Amino acid sequence: KVETVESQTDVLIIGAGPAGLMAAYWMAVCGVKARIIDKRGTKVLTGQADGLRPRTLEIFDSIGFQHRVIHEGHVAVEANFWVPDATGKLTRQGPHCSPKINESNHHNMLLNQGRIERFLIDKISKHSDLEVERGIIAESFEYDEKLEKDLDSYPITVKLRTLSGEEANPGDISKDRSGSQPANGQGRGSLLPDDWEELIQKSRVRQTKTEIVKAKFIIGCDGAHSWTRKQVNIPLEGSSTEHIWGVIDVVPLSNFPDMRRLGTITHSSGTILVIPRERRLVRLYVPVQMVDSTSTNRFDRSAITLETIKSRVQAIMSPYTFDFHICDWWTAYQVGQRVAPAFNKGNRIFLAGDAVHTHSPKVGLGMNMSMQDGFNIGWKLAMVAVGAANPAILDTYNAERHPLAEMLLEFDRLWSGEFTETTDSDGPAAPDKADRMVHVVEKYMDFADGLRTYYPASPLVWKVSEEEGPEAARNLIPGERISPIKLRNQAEGNSKWTTRLLESDGCYRIIVLAGDVRVQEQKKRVEALGRFLSAEDKTMVSPLHRYVPIPGRKDQIEVVTIHSAPWKEVEFFDFPEIFRPFDLIMGWGYDDIWCDNSCTWDPHCGGQGYEKWGVDRTRGAMLVLRPDQYIGWVGELEEVKDMTDYLDGVLIKMPTPEI
Ligand code: FAD
Repeated sequence: KVETVESQTDVLIIGAGPAGLMAAYWMAVCGVKARIIDKRGTKVLTGQADGLRPRTLEIFDSIGFQHRVIHEGHVAVEANFWVPDATGKLTRQGPHCSPKINESNHHNMLLNQGRIERFLIDKISKHSDLEVERGIIAESFEYDEKLEKDLDSYPITVKLRTLSGEEANPGDISKDRSGSQPANGQGRGSLLPDDWEELIQKSRVRQTKTEIVKAKFIIGCDGAHSWTRKQVNIPLEGSSTEHIWGVIDVVPLSNFPDMRRLGTITHSSGTILVIPRERRLVRLYVPVQMVDSTSTNRFDRSAITLETIKSRVQAIMSPYTFDFHICDWWTAYQVGQRVAPAFNKGNRIFLAGDAVHTHSPKVGLGMNMSMQDGFNIGWKLAMVAVGAANPAILDTYNAERHPLAEMLLEFDRLWSGEFTETTDSDGPAAPDKADRMVHVVEKYMDFADGLRTYYPASPLVWKVSEEEGPEAARNLIPGERISPIKLRNQAEGNSKWTTRLLESDGCYRIIVLAGDVRVQEQKKRVEALGRFLSAEDKTMVSPLHRYVPIPGRKDQIEVVTIHSAPWKEVEFFDFPEIFRPFDLIMGWGYDDIWCDNSCTWDPHCGGQGYEKWGVDRTRGAMLVLRPDQYIGWVGELEEVKDMTDYLDGVLIKMPTPEI
C-alpha cells in the first residue's frame, strides 16, 4: 500500500542542480517556507560542468564560499590556440589573455559542478533547515489561474512520488577511478570525503509514498527536459543542427607541451578543446561525429565508447602522443541550441537554467547562466514570499534574464562553429583560425564573464538614459552589477573587496559615497543626509525603518559609507551615528564605514575606487544596491526623495501603527 500525505509550502523548487540550489539559497537566507526536491538519489559527484566565470565567482564571494573554490579549483586565464603552420606542423598561437582581465577580482576557474553543489548545500544548511529531498519526482501538476492575484492562496498542486532506490540511482557506481572501463558518471576513488558521505546516504532503504503539495509559487529548475516547462506548455525553440561530441575527464599521459594549459588544438578533421582541471585532471572536448538534422541517418550516440573518443583525440593531436590510465568521467552528447520564449507563467510559475536554455557546453556557460538565473529569481521570489517586496518585481525576471539567454545562444553558435568548421576552400586548416577564435571570445567577453549585464529599466532599475551612466557616478550604471573595488576599513585598517563586503544576505543597501569629508561644505552635505536618514526632523520620512524586513532582521535596508579622505585625517566618530549604528550587544558598526585609500601592504587596495566608479572624489554620490549587488538607483546625496520613491516601488511599507 502506497501512503499518500498532503502538505502546503510557499515555494516549491523542482530540481536541485546549480539553478535550483542557487534559488534555494535565497529561500534559506530570507526565511521562506520552501522545499526543494530532486529525482536523483545524489547530487552530481563527477563530470558535467566545470567552468566558472568571474561574475559567478563574485556571487560565490558574496555568499561566502569562494575561498573553498579557490582552495580546490584551478585558475585558467590564458588560452593558447594550436593550429597547423604552412608546412602542416602544429604551432602555438598565443597566449591570449582577456584585455579586461582585471575588471573583476576573480578570474576564470575550473572546478567540478558537484563541488559547487556541495558548497551551496552547505551554505543552505548554515542558514536554515531547508534540505534537498532526493529521490522524489514531480509527477502531476494543476494550476488554478483564478487564484493568481490572491497572494495568500495556493494555486499550484503538485503530486510528488518517492522513488525506489533503483529508480533514484540508475547506473553503475561501483567502478573505481583507476578501473580500466570507468563508469560513465561516478567512481569512488575520485570522490572527496563529504561527497562520499552522500553516496552512503543514498543506499538507505526508501519507503515509497506519494504526497500532494499545495504551493504558492513554483520554480522549475529541472534541466533540459524540464517537466515543469512542459506542464505549462512553454516550448524550447531553436536550431536543430546537432553534432555529436565526446568529452573526457582524464589524467593525461602525453608529450603535448600545453596539456595543462587552457586552449585548442586544430587539425583538418576537427578541433579539440583542452581544459586543465583540479587534481591533475584535464577535460577534453572532441568532435566525434557531425550530424545534420536534415539527414534521415541519425548517428547512434550510444555506439560511442571511451575508446572512440580516445582515438579521435589521438588522431587530432598527432604527432603528439595521448593516453591515460585514470578516467574520472566521460560522455558523448548531442546538443541543440534552444531557448524558451518565456521564463515564467504569470507571477507564480518560474523556470530557470537548462529548463529554458540549452546549448553546447563548450562555451562553459550553462552552469554559470543557470546559477545566475536562480540567483536572480531567488531573491525576488523570496522577498515577495515573505511579504517584503512588491510582487510586481517578479515581472523583471523574464525581462532581465531572457535577453541574456538569447545572447548566450548567439555566442554559442559562433563559438561552436569554430570547432566544427576547420577547413578553408584553399587548404586543410583555416590559417586565421586563432585570430577568428580570439575575435569571437573578445566580442562576447563582457557578456560571458558577466561583467556587463544589460538589465533594462524597470521598477528595480531606474535609468535616466539608456546610453550613459548617471552624472553623479558615470560608471555606476543602473542595471549593471557594481564593479569590484578593494577598500580600507576606517576603524580597523584592514582591506576587503566589495564582492565580500556586499553580502548576499537579503538586504537592500544604500551606499553613501561620502566624498572628501575634510571639506567643510561636503561634511555638511553628509550630515544633512545623516539627519534625513535618522529622521531627526519629524517632517522627514527615513527609508531606513520604513519597510517590512525579511524574517530575523530588524531593518530591510543597510547603509554602507565609503569616503575618499585620507583615513588619518578623519575619525570613525566624525560620521553621523546613523552611518555607524550602535548595538547594545555588538557595539558600534565598525563594518559600516570604509575609505577609498591605498594600503602599502595590500597592492589591490589602491585607493582608486572612486575613479573606477566615475565618482568625483570631493562631492561623492549615493546609490541603492539590490540584494544581488546590481545597481538599482544612483544620484546625489541630496536626492533623497527620488531614492525613497525608488525604494517605495520595490519594498513593502510597514503598516502605520494605529493610534
Ligand atoms: P541540471 O543540472 O540539469 O539539474 C536539473 C535537476 O533537476 C537534476 O538534478 C534532475 O535530476 C532534476 N529533475 C529533473 N526532472 C525532475 C522531476 N520531474 N522531478 C524532480 N527532479 C527533477 N556549464 C558551465 O557553466 N560550464 C561548463 O564548463 C560546462 N560544461 C559542461 C559539460 C558537459 C559535458 C555537460 C553535459 C554540461 C556542461 N555544462 C557546463 C552545462 C551545465 O552542466 C548545465 O548547464 C547545468 O547543470 C544546468 O543546471 P540546471 O540546474 O539548470 O540543470
